[in-house]
Amino acid sequence: MRFSTLAVTAFALALGSAPALAENFPSRPVTMVVPFSAGGPTDTVARLVAQSMSQTLGQQVIVENVGGAGGTIGAGRVAKADPDGYTILLHHIGQATSATLYRKLAYDPKTDFAPIGLVTDVPMTIVAKKDFPAKDLKELVAYVKANPDKVTLANAGVGAASHLCGMLFMQALQTPLTTVPYKGTGPAMNDLVGGQVDLMCDQTTNTTGQIKGGAVKAYAVTTPTRVASLPDLPTTREAGLPGVEVAVWHGLYAPKGTPDAVVTKLNAALKVALKDATVKQRFAELGTEPVAEARATPKALGDFVGTEIDRWRPLIQAAGVYAD
Ligand code: ASP
Repeated sequence: MRFSTLAVTAFALALGSAPALAENFPSRPVTMVVPFSAGGPTDTVARLVAQSMSQTLGQQVIVENVGGAGGTIGAGRVAKADPDGYTILLHHIGQATSATLYRKLAYDPKTDFAPIGLVTDVPMTIVAKKDFPAKDLKELVAYVKANPDKVTLANAGVGAASHLCGMLFMQALQTPLTTVPYKGTGPAMNDLVGGQVDLMCDQTTNTTGQIKGGAVKAYAVTTPTRVASLPDLPTTREAGLPGVEVAVWHGLYAPKGTPDAVVTKLNAALKVALKDATVKQRFAELGTEPVAEARATPKALGDFVGTEIDRWRPLIQAAGVYAD
């Protein structure tokens, strides 16, 4: 008798818990996982967005850096987290490319998440240590082709945007290079500035300051048009490497099963962040801008992940790069 009363109570609570949870959300801090090191480009985007979302939600949104394996460790952590909205993921294009790059992924990027919305599209730049012996992209290509054994290329692991861009670069040159993986391009940039590695393709959210300060040499930007904050930098298309074109889109996700009402609250806070004057100004200084409002939706991000998985699959398969 006692058992059945308890069972009925538990059942009633289970039925009632999801709306109650959503109504009070968030009643404690939210963790935003960045699947790369602190101080890198994804971290920079995340901290700007998190700060604004904290104000809107009335609870701290704390960024936690879970780097390694090209972003798949951090993404995996969120895929397996409680679906209550208190653990969310800010990831980029790697969410789609890792679906093909990894033979065994511990999660499904398409079905294990509740998308919240797209955030921003970030151009990449091809940069080198400051005393690299090439003054423009043409000279860089000639030098790399002539000295493939001497040149090292940094990246943030298989699945990172720097890895993808590096892959396109090596493919365009038909020249494999020694790659040096890091847990994020934050630490990779330190080594590039220090001259321990030669080359990197990295997001403007990480390279703009170093380029402007003369700490690294920049050769090209990987978008079809130039970036306003780096107006002298030619596009890869202009500079003769049209195959190396990629924009690093970023999205925000909760784990699959997160109540719709919680996703809606997180999405509303994201939308406010994307209109926040400070966010917009910092994004502009770093060569990017928030996505248009129509793309900052769960459906737009969910659809886009699928489209991007399909778009990159044949390119990755042609390159024959895989990780286990
Ligand atoms: N976005 C990564 C980072 O924040 C690096 C990458 O994707 O290449 O470190």
